[in-house]
Amino acid sequence: STKLDSELPKTDLPLSENALVVLARRYLRKDNRGKVVERPEDMFRRVARTIAQADLRYDPDVDVDEVADFFYGLMTDFKFLPNSPTLMNAGRELGQLSACFVLPIHDSIESIFDAVKHTAMIHKSGGGTGFSFSRIRPEGDRVQTTHGVASGPISFMTIFDVATETIKQGGTRRGANMGILRVDHPDIEAFITAKTQTDRLNNFNISVALTERFMEAVEREEDYGLVNPATGQEVARIPATRVFDTIVESAWASGEPGIVYLDRINQANPTPHLGEIESTNPCGEQPLLPYESCNLGSINLGRFVVDGAIDYPALREAVHGAVHFLDNVIDLNRFPLEQIREMTLRTRKIGLGVMGFADLLIQLGIPYNSAQAGTVAEEVMGFINRESKAASAELAERRGNFPAYKGSVYDTPETPYMRNATTTTIAPTGTISIIAGASSGIEPLFSVSYVRKVLDGTELVEAHPLFVQAMEKAGAYSEALLERIAERGSVQGMDEVPEEIQRIFVTSMDVAPEDHIAVQAAFQRHTDNAVSKTINFPESATKDDIRKAYLLAWRQGLKGLTIYRYGSRPVQVLNLKKKE
Ligand code: ADP
Repeated sequence: STKLDSELPKTDLPLSENALVVLARRYLRKDNRGKVVERPEDMFRRVARTIAQADLRYDPDVDVDEVADFFYGLMTDFKFLPNSPTLMNAGRELGQLSACFVLPIHDSIESIFDAVKHTAMIHKSGGGTGFSFSRIRPEGDRVQTTHGVASGPISFMTIFDVATETIKQGGTRRGANMGILRVDHPDIEAFITAKTQTDRLNNFNISVALTERFMEAVEREEDYGLVNPATGQEVARIPATRVFDTIVESAWASGEPGIVYLDRINQANPTPHLGEIESTNPCGEQPLLPYESCNLGSINLGRFVVDGAIDYPALREAVHGAVHFLDNVIDLNRFPLEQIREMTLRTRKIGLGVMGFADLLIQLGIPYNSAQAGTVAEEVMGFINRESKAASAELAERRGNFPAYKGSVYDTPETPYMRNATTTTIAPTGTISIIAGASSGIEPLFSVSYVRKVLDGTELVEAHPLFVQAMEKAGAYSEALLERIAERGSVQGMDEVPEEIQRIFVTSMDVAPEDHIAVQAAFQRHTDNAVSKTINFPESATKDDIRKAYLLAWRQGLKGLTIYRYGSRPVQVLNLKKKE
């Protein structure tokens, strides 16, 4: 009836207005005048049909339409969605389907600028890139051929930053980078504060790679050595606590740098015979070897509750379908670079994860900040991890093992078949959770009720649908109340909200950092790759609170940690959370 209606794509699927806006902007096919010419169901049909085609390579008699219908059903029931590039590019000219890439950078101008070019090609197609800058010689070091002075890893990072900034004008989405530096690199102290010192590097998340040796030196308050990567020589010894405190202080002030526990990541490297892992993708959930890429997908846990319990048979079916889907994606992917194609096909890593964990807990009547939440997390992710391995083994019997199987950790009599070197990863699901109408990743609700600007500029007060339902059932619902909740986000301590409902509807800010970490650790124990999660702190949190969280995370076996102190960071590289 209004102009507003005509701008949104028509659909019979239960998609929110927010989802339709996101889809129209980036995902749906457009004609060359920029008009959207694809309905959301056409997009899911395009993706399902394209991805089903890979089955023909292994079985010429397969009923591809049946496979496509199954994939279509998984997606349009919002039980499973692949990462954004697959939705955007499958069955289209670009054909680049992965979200995550890691590129190597060696200590030479040629290697650095090759990587800049490759980054641009990946960003153009909607992927994100991670790099370790640890091999670049430190600032002030000698340059043999020119007798000049080296400018160091941080100065080179700014080139990637500017390139990313420029590419994003024309690409499918704004680019994102992870920049990693080892804690024993001589430039480490400048790196830690790099983002607070300049307003550069806005297209980077930065993380310090902490080693076990360093963490032990922190605990014992000892010195540790800084090593020039070009010569392998130790150039200085400095107090580990000084560096650790600088990280803590900077993270307290700005949320960055993040940290990754690099040795731990390598302990879990399934293919150590192919090399060492130096970096993760932009949001930290996917450690990869140089030139590897990985495609992700997420199960929407909120869609698997029947009569107050998890429907495990349905979940099993979805997990097997998702692994099948993601393995097909590898075969159909148009890789941006020959080296990436080769590496990716050798290990065939996939990353199946979850979204809607908070929605699941609410339906089960379990508070996010409770021991029971950890139990549910272990149970459900343990199940998904086991079933994903079973599905990968079944595929391997028909399609063959991943080519680098020999010499990998799976090369034992107990696991004779494995199609994929990894099967599980917990992604942030920043956009696909909006499309699915799910809480993002494994995060608590961001807010219970919020104000949303509609396309024509009017403001609407909305609330989590399960909250509205619970309040109506308790006879406590009113729109005026919703508006008051929207001003604060949280319902804790509001007399008008029954206590039981307050207990279940906790938001990120209501959950103590230790409880956030407990959930991350529970998921990490059943995830091959890593877990994307933000550990929220109140504005009043001290530096010591953050220090303790890093040590707790290390002791709990996490592969990395991202913290956010309320109000400390004006802008984020990526929208990890729905801001509304
Ligand atoms: P989505 O929900 O769109 O599938 P996620 O929020 O789960 O994506 O992010 C998964 C990964 O996708 C990130 O770790 C990163 O590697 C990549 N990614 C996310 N957003 C972007 C972006 N704007 N540009 C490039 N890569 C991105």
